[in-house]
Amino acid sequence: AQERYASIRDTPTITSDGKEISLVMNAGLMADLPSLPSSGAEGVGLFRTELQFLVRNQMPKRSELVALYSRVLDAASGKRVVFRTLDIGSDKVLPYMKPTDEPNPALGWRAIRVGLDKPGIMRMQLQALIRAANGRPLTIMFPFVAQAEEYHQARAEVDKTIAREERLGHVLPETLEVGAMLETPSLAFAPQKFFDEVGFLSIGGNDLKQFFFAADRENERVRRRYDTLNASFLSLIERIVERCAISGTPLSFCGEDAGRPVEAVCLAAMGMRTLSMRPASIGPVKSLLLRTNLDDLRKVILDARHRGEQTVRPMVMEWFRQNR
Ligand code: PEP
Ligand code: MG
Repeated sequence: AQERYASIRDTPTITSDGKEISLVMNAGLMADLPSLPSSGAEGVGLFRTELQFLVRNQMPKRSELVALYSRVLDAASGKRVVFRTLDIGSDKVLPYMKPTDEPNPALGWRAIRVGLDKPGIMRMQLQALIRAANGRPLTIMFPFVAQAEEYHQARAEVDKTIAREERLGHVLPETLEVGAMLETPSLAFAPQKFFDEVGFLSIGGNDLKQFFFAADRENERVRRRYDTLNASFLSLIERIVERCAISGTPLSFCGEDAGRPVEAVCLAAMGMRTLSMRPASIGPVKSLLLRTNLDDLRKVILDARHRGEQTVRPMVMEWFRQNR
């Protein structure tokens, strides 16, 4: 199988009915970067910057971050890297930060909420990203945005930082994209104006699913009850795809399900055109996409939903068996 994946590594991902899908990878440490050329990923769709904070025992200095992000961009050699700002707090506690005692950490003070309430670290990170880009294109993504206002505030921080860096004489990024993760159901129902304003959206399926079903993603016992191919969850995905299409907002999916072949092709059938996954999943996902007629699969999914199936999985699997 590994050899077959190697043989399709440079093949563009075009489904049997001619739909082009972009496959990108998730990363977080320098050690992940060599997988970019070897996996055939078109870029880094999610760079989890908190990992580099979590493996240390003291707060990194801004100059260290500049060096680090610069090396990441060097290693990507021109491919797009989506830097997600710190997603910490609650369960992902930095050893050098004062711990907070919260009854429901997953629903607590985390990610962008920390970034906006205590903007010091976020500002340092934004500065470091701009300096690391040093005239190259830069893409920044904010995690856990639950309402439009949080995005507006974060975006204002970016604009302020850009203005300050310019005053200080630093070279600004050639292009700047600023987007948000959609990982709480609330954001799917934000005003359409938000979809017009945001630079791009990436569905954080791990968290979106956790909050949609109110089932802890870390708790096997409850997590397994709810299928990603649940008809209601796919309806939510479809709704997000439609709302992005209305505004022309670029959309991707970067949760673990993007790396599971059956789930990935179903997401593509619902209209997702960019999937970000661990590098080892690119081969298997691409292999199935190349063989799949997304239009036909979509009809199967809609039919299952129309019949009132709770999950579309059995009908999808039966269709795959018949079309092998
Ligand atoms: C997600 O929630 O799906 C996601 C990609 O982010 P993380 O897994 O880091 O929370
Ligand atoms: Mg998440």
